[in-house]
Amino acid sequence: MRRKIVAGNWKLNTTLTEGMDLARSVIDLLKKGGGGNVSVIIAPPFTHLTEIKKIIGDEIGLAAQNCAAEKSGAFTGEVSAEMIRSAGAGYVITGHSERRHYFNESDKDVASKVRNAIESGLQPLFCCGEKLHERERSIYTEVIKKQIQLGLFDLPKDDFSKVIIAYEPVWAIGTGKNATPEQAQEIHQYIRHLVEEKYDRNVANNLTILYGGSCKPSNAGELFSNNDIDGGLIGGASLSAEDFYSIINSF
Ligand code: PEP
Repeated sequence: MRRKIVAGNWKLNTTLTEGMDLARSVIDLLKKGGGGNVSVIIAPPFTHLTEIKKIIGDEIGLAAQNCAAEKSGAFTGEVSAEMIRSAGAGYVITGHSERRHYFNESDKDVASKVRNAIESGLQPLFCCGEKLHERERSIYTEVIKKQIQLGLFDLPKDDFSKVIIAYEPVWAIGTGKNATPEQAQEIHQYIRHLVEEKYDRNVANNLTILYGGSCKPSNAGELFSNNDIDGGLIGGASLSAEDFYSIINSF
């Protein structure tokens, strides 16, 4: 049975104190009940990982927002997958569109990050998604296929089984304009089909595919009610503990 997951990507937000308060608020809300069969993950900035791990323990998952494509060495400012694992995280976001576009990450970089993550014992939360002009030209399935093939399909089956995919149309991220449930379901089903073709039906059925892009309490329920949408990767709305909690309870 595949997991339902709601993951919060805090991006470049919160000081350490603010981040610790936010994590405490999420934990406090979850202790009240709800979120039953949903795995909750938060992805604070690197600097917060160790302290936040002390707050959340194993009650919710901890992710980094990125990792280095290299394992170690003279790469000033980079943070390796192994370092992230040693700080207590169990997941890392790879290939987020903001990294692909603002920091020129190539599919090859993303593939290295995924490999390093898995070798270090982290589960990669692999993001893919098309830009607005690619949707308008109806070439979005080709774009997503290429990102997935180049980013993930060199993995052997056992390693691929550790991957979580997030479909995040770039035009929906931080814009307030979410994909419709039909648009999201079409792509999630397509991704599952690609995975079945490459690996097998069992791997495809067990793959968790999240939707990301302006997901909020008012639209999460409608999105999550689709067969192939197993939860969400939440940006802006994860900075409010109440909104995040409400999304967690939207299944
Ligand atoms: C994201 O950045 O992964 C994201 C989905 O952002 P938002 O929810 O703010 O659109």
